Amino acid sequence: MTKILYYVISMVAIILVLPLLIVGGFVKSDFNRDFSIKAVPAEKDDIVINVYMTDTGEVVQMELEEYLQGVVAAEMPAEFELEALKAQAVASRTYAYYRIVNSNIDKSHAGANVCTDFTHCQAWKCLDEAVLKWDKNKALKNMDKIKKAVTDTRNIIIKYEGEVIDPVFHSNSGGRTENSRDVWDGGEFPYLKSVISQGEDKSPAYENTIVITPDDFVATLQDEFPELEVDKDDLKNELSIIDYTEGQRVKTLRVGNIKISGVDFRKIFELKSANFEFEMPEDNIIKITAYGNGHGVGMSQWGANHLAQTGSGYEKILKHYYQNVELSTIP
Ligand SMILES: [Zn+2]
Repeated sequence: MTKILYYVISMVAIILVLPLLIVGGFVKSDFNRDFSIKAVPAEKDDIVINVYMTDTGEVVQMELEEYLQGVVAAEMPAEFELEALKAQAVASRTYAYYRIVNSNIDKSHAGANVCTDFTHCQAWKCLDEAVLKWDKNKALKNMDKIKKAVTDTRNIIIKYEGEVIDPVFHSNSGGRTENSRDVWDGGEFPYLKSVISQGEDKSPAYENTIVITPDDFVATLQDEFPELEVDKDDLKNELSIIDYTEGQRVKTLRVGNIKISGVDFRKIFELKSANFEFEMPEDNIIKITAYGNGHGVGMSQWGANHLAQTGSGYEKILKHYYQNVELSTIP
């Protein structure tokens, strides 16, 4: 009887546990395949970058090319075309290298070259964690694609008249990118000029609308501009757009007795872009619809993907969004 019981327990163990070990072992070994990104000790000739981790406050030193894999994974959907991912890799490498060679450019993150906050520098995420969050059927393919985008462009950077550029980029321009000078005071860069950017309406974030009451609208503005005088019952006449930038964004608008720049208005109402319009379908409702996502300067990621889908390689994509530049390699 004891023997039979022992036999039954053994069979149950084999039937239930063995498949788990096999499947678990397969998944583990497959998912452990060369995903390393965390603070790999640098080789003697490697270029290293100090990265300020915005969520923890620590500074981690990484090899530049390893860092870039985490940037491309965080900055661009892995489903995008390989040539778009390569354009992102080169833009992000140039962005990082510009901050390595100009180490005094920013003192705001504990002396590190870059941080992981996409609103300040460029996004980065640990590739191990990215893999676990992706759909399991696509995770390995995504990983290989991102690594390929970085390794196929190894050491390649963008230069203008022999100097490394500051290649800012954004998610979606809404159809036309912006002159740098129209977004940032003193931001006159000859390679950051407004250009047409097609195919961006494929993005689910292309159009964003907020709805606000006249009371909240005026109160929000009065927090920023205490001198504001406006008749909130007559906003149809009190609110108007005065002029537009070359990139088709609102340059200046008037509310009551004050003028506000489109860039400031975007910040105050946390709009996705300064390419916006108003609608007042009813007396107590203001609809503000913004097109695109981001500051609009430099490369549009959705535009880059559209160019890749229509046959452009990464060099052509970069030269579309950054004017009169050359590709070069890190010495
Ligand atoms: Zn930063």
